[in-house]
This record gives sequence, C-alpha cells and structure tokens, in this order.
Amino acid sequence: MEGVKNIISEVRSHFPALETSMNGRRLVYLDNAATTQKSREVLEFISGAMVNKNANVHRSMYALSDLATEAYEAAREKVRSFINAPERENIIFTSGTTASINLVASSFCQAFLKEGDAVLIEADSHHSNIVPWQLAAQRVGAFIKVLPIDGSGNLCTNLAESLLTPEVKIVALTQVSNVLGVENTIAEIIKIAHKKGIPVLVDGAQGVVHSEVDVQKMDCDFYAFSAHKIYGATGVGILYGKRDWLEKMPPYMGGGDMVETVTYQKTTYAPLPLKFEAGTPNFTGAASLLPALETAEYLRRGEVGDALKKEERAIVSFMMEKLSQIPDIEIYGTPENLEKKHPIFSFNVKGVNAGDMAQILDKMGVAVRSGLMCAEPLINSFGATSALRASFAPYNTLEEADYFVQCLQRALQMLK
Ligand code: PLP
Repeated sequence: MEGVKNIISEVRSHFPALETSMNGRRLVYLDNAATTQKSREVLEFISGAMVNKNANVHRSMYALSDLATEAYEAAREKVRSFINAPERENIIFTSGTTASINLVASSFCQAFLKEGDAVLIEADSHHSNIVPWQLAAQRVGAFIKVLPIDGSGNLCTNLAESLLTPEVKIVALTQVSNVLGVENTIAEIIKIAHKKGIPVLVDGAQGVVHSEVDVQKMDCDFYAFSAHKIYGATGVGILYGKRDWLEKMPPYMGGGDMVETVTYQKTTYAPLPLKFEAGTPNFTGAASLLPALETAEYLRRGEVGDALKKEERAIVSFMMEKLSQIPDIEIYGTPENLEKKHPIFSFNVKGVNAGDMAQILDKMGVAVRSGLMCAEPLINSFGATSALRASFAPYNTLEEADYFVQCLQRALQMLK
C-alpha cells in the first residue's frame, strides 16, 4: 500500500500543474478528457526546442533546420511504434483529432462517396465524429446512419450487421466516448464491416489515453487522436491510415511541403505522409510527442503501470459506488462489467443545474466539465441539455476521487 502511494507521488511530481492551487485550494484537476496536464519532460522539451531546434522543417540546407526536421520525424517514428503502425508513411500530423477526422471525411468522401450512399456513425459520437461526415454527405447527397447504444451506454453491436447495408461506404467509430467512458466493442464491428468491404475510422481521442493501441491488431483503416489529450502539445493531432487508402485519397489541403512539382496549371504531389501535410506544421508541438508518448509509456509500464492501473480500478469502483448512492442521480455509462468502464463519469442530479455544480466545485479547487461535452445528440437522448463530468487521468488518485465526492455532496446541499 505504502509502495503504491510512493509510486503515485513520484508520478505526480512529473506534472508541475498538479502542485498548483486554484481559488486558494490545491488544484484537483478532473477535466482530463478535455485535455491532460503536461509532464515536466514535455515542458522542458518544448522550451528547449523553441531555442535549439526552432527552424522550419523539411525545407532548408542548414543544420538548425536539420535538427528541427530530425525532431519532427523522430516524433513520427515514436507515434508509429506507439500505435504499432507498419510504416512512417501511415502517420500524418494534423492539428488534432478533429482535423484528422475532417481530413478523412473530406478526402475519402470526395473519392468514394456519391449520392444515395451512407456513412455509419455511433450514437455516442463526439461532434468531431458527426459534423465532418454530415458536411461530406451533404456535398454529394449521401446520408448518415446511426448505430445506437443501450440504456447502460453499451454499443448495440448486434445491430451492426443489419445497419451495414450496401450503401454504407465508411464507418466512423468511437473507441471510448468522452461522455460515457465505456470501451466500445469496435473490434467486432470492424470485422463485420471488413467482411462487407467497408473501411472503418476509429476516433481514439479518449481510447489512446486509457488503452494500449495496436492499429494492426485492431485492423482499423484510420485511427485519429490528439497530442494534447495524451500529455503533449495542443494543436497537434495524428491520423493513422492504411497505406492503400491514403494512396488512393486526394490531398485534403494544398500548399507548401505537400507538392512534388507545381506549375501555374497543375501540381504533382509529394509522397506520403507529406501529401497530407500542407503548410508549416506545428513542428515543435509535433516533436513534443516524443517525450509525451514516453510519458504515456512510463505511466503504463512496469511497477508504475501496475500501481496506476490498480489505483484506476479502485477509482472506478469507488466513484460508481459513491455516485450511485446520491439521491436522484442519473449516471451515464453504467456497464455491468466495470472492466469496460474507464474513469470518465458523467451524470445529472434531478433538479440541479450541472453548471451550478461545476462552479461551486471550482471554488473548492475541483476542475470538472459541465455542459454538452460536444455530444449534444447523446446528451439530448438522455432527456438532458447538459451534464457534469469528472474525468480522471492516470496521475489522479483515489484521495482526489474521495475529495470530489465530498465536495459534490456539499455542493448538492447548497443547491437542493
Ligand atoms: N473525439 C473525442 C471522443 C473527444 O473526446 C474529443 C475531444 O474532447 C475529440 C474527438 C476532439 O478532439 P480535439 O478537440 O483535440 O480535436
């Protein structure tokens, strides 16, 4: 027990933000599904790179630019190995999960979606995995189909077979919903879709933080995630794509770096991955994925990984038990098997405004999200117009979960 405590306090010392105060209280940061705090290693890398590696990448014949390019490409290699992609050409840097999904929705659909076709999405999708598909569908007169979830927040995998009709040209799944925290059964759906020759994109914005991802094992065709949700910089995203699809898809944006030759009338494009990386990228932010993913590995490997996993499972059990004891509460994402539940807890208490709860919690130093959480159709399907969400990262503790519950109970006493 003492050993676990020591490991966790050592882990927390890597994240300077956790030692700060808010509203005169020690910060208890429970909005990790929105963005994670950065490790000292990432912070030091970024400030160092701004001095020692700050030159534009892939463009120049001088040593400083080579250093910047090497750091950028080293991060690409780190991402490749982190998600076990076969080649560096599979890894495209974007500005975030949103940009990665927009890239596929726009480029794939331009080539392969026509009038009368459909895109299958999930009922628990983030707006980033809904709106880009609507835009693409509207351009050609295609439509959106929705794979539902059941009352506990489990994806209705049994309906996939019947929903995957011949007009469906691509499936956009969510590995873990940012509201429900439930690990979706995407492997089964990918298998069914592939039997029918339909490619699958997976939104891994939350999934990559909480589970080991192997894109070859998962066999998804595209996988999207954001650096800032996994201890890295904001404004950086990753799109993994199978080479065959990426080769067949037209460029998404035009500009510098994505070209081979340009005339006033015609352009030939750079090979992968640069074909999809027009313009100056956030090269320092992207390069910081190397220390960020090393941080993620540190948090999930060896005795540190074992200790944090144990703490995470204890947090999930504790939170589900304590929250369910609150009168008039409705918790979203309550799978029977708690092994499927990641530490993301969204709920409403009847008669209490989620925003009011969040504001009172803030006064107690607890940072949580309230509102629609960019999942309006899902929140509306619960008959709600907002919810409160406490989302934990591996550096959060059971003690913080306990403090959160105590503060919530005090807030409810004030508001009820
Ligand atoms: N998908 C999911 C499941 C998310 O949780 C988020 C962000 O909260 C996104 C997509 C969008 O990520 P970003 O804003 O980093 O592009």
